[in-house]
Amino acid sequence: MEQTESFDVVVIGGGPAGATAAEQLAQNGYSVLLLDRAGRIKPCGGAIPPRLIKDFAIPDSLLVAKARSARMVSPTFKQVDIPIDNGFVGMVDRADFDEWLRVRAQAQGAKRRIGTFERLSRDPDGVSVVHFQARESNKRGEGFAARVRARAVIGADGARSEVARQAIPGAERTKYVFAYHEIIRAPAIKPAGYDDTRCDVFYHGAMSPDFYGWVFPHGDTLSVGTGSADKGFSLKGAVERLRQTTGLQGAEVLRREGAPLPMKPLPRWDNGRDIVLAGDAAGVVAPASGEGIYYAMVGGQLAAESVAQLLKTGDVSSLKLARKRFMKAHGTVFWVLGIMQKFWYKNDIRRERFVKICEDRDVQQLTFDSYMNKELKRQKPMAHIRIFFKDLAHLLGLARV
Ligand SMILES: Cc1cc2nc3c(=O)[nH]c(=O)nc-3n(C[C@H](O)[C@H](O)[C@H](O)COP(=O)(O)OP(=O)(O)OC[C@H]3O[C@@H](n4cnc5c(N)ncnc54)[C@H](O)[C@@H]3O)c2cc1C
Repeated sequence: MEQTESFDVVVIGGGPAGATAAEQLAQNGYSVLLLDRAGRIKPCGGAIPPRLIKDFAIPDSLLVAKARSARMVSPTFKQVDIPIDNGFVGMVDRADFDEWLRVRAQAQGAKRRIGTFERLSRDPDGVSVVHFQARESNKRGEGFAARVRARAVIGADGARSEVARQAIPGAERTKYVFAYHEIIRAPAIKPAGYDDTRCDVFYHGAMSPDFYGWVFPHGDTLSVGTGSADKGFSLKGAVERLRQTTGLQGAEVLRREGAPLPMKPLPRWDNGRDIVLAGDAAGVVAPASGEGIYYAMVGGQLAAESVAQLLKTGDVSSLKLARKRFMKAHGTVFWVLGIMQKFWYKNDIRRERFVKICEDRDVQQLTFDSYMNKELKRQKPMAHIRIFFKDLAHLLGLARV
């Protein structure tokens, strides 16, 4: 009988979360298999903050565009432009970005396999076995059933994770916003008001009843998209409206694609034994903004740390550290963003007010500090207090729209 290959860690899913986890573990000397089904570009607006670029050493060559400002558009089409002082938001194309991350993990020593994860089982000695349909062709160019043994498994297989479904209790208890976007070719003749260094964000019930619509520049292409948790809402219809509104209706459509955004961290990320989740599989897309790449990479890093600890000490409670550390660092921001989304994205009157308060320089500063650098400046307590009272005035309808 053919001997089953064994690894310290099998990472299932080679997106930002899985590739980051695999890279880190391989760098620390563990034997790692990075299994990814490949063949599909992750639907994504591709906006990444400077903190990600710095912390994960992303080279400039991967940035297809740099956004130097953001435009918030209200239901009555009032616009608030927010300059990004001394910086930019990076734009990546996920086909190149993800592959680059996987190659980096491989360069650190991770082994890559192309294949679709199918199920987990255990050998009689208790070691986890990962079963998958290998896509590398055999001599006749066909896939085949394969199995590998793993001392630990990281489930980084994205939203609606199959690893989570099979191994983590409570995994079904997450909330999704469904996001859809069209990748269009940047028009040769720019429509009025179009700026390829600006991200436009539309807070408008017609574009989304509970999220927002966007137009993000990507060099030669653009991502025009929206999201909603309302299954009765036509995302395609909303993108059509967005394209008409922005003068992009005639542009050539290169891809139409969508995917769920899991916006609630799962109550558990590990099975108390040898499996832990990371990234979308763990439910960590930020509410209100839909930002998931940074949180996926941080999640991959934390999953790798907790697995390394498990392999070193044999202490299964080490796996809990991934969620604990993530929530300590980002739980409050997720909570605040969740409340923001529930409150401000509820109807057009509130959206109008929301865009209005974004005119405030303090609000802009606070928003950008938290998005760009993932930190709130504590040295400006008066600004926080001012924002609190301004928010309150808007909430109570005391401020003029
Ligand atoms: C339309 C849209 C726009 C978005 N825009 C942004 C944005 O601008 N900025 C931002 O920060 N975030 C954005 N996000 C969110 C972001 O894309 C995700 O949060 C991020 O990709 C999560 O990374 P991940 O590695 O956890 O999962 P994924 O990127 O989904 O990677 C999962 C990987 O697992 C693999 N896989 C899945 N199932 C299996 C299986 N059975 N076997 C083997 N492999 C498997 C997949 O091939 C994939 O490579 C957007 C999402 C959507 C849907």
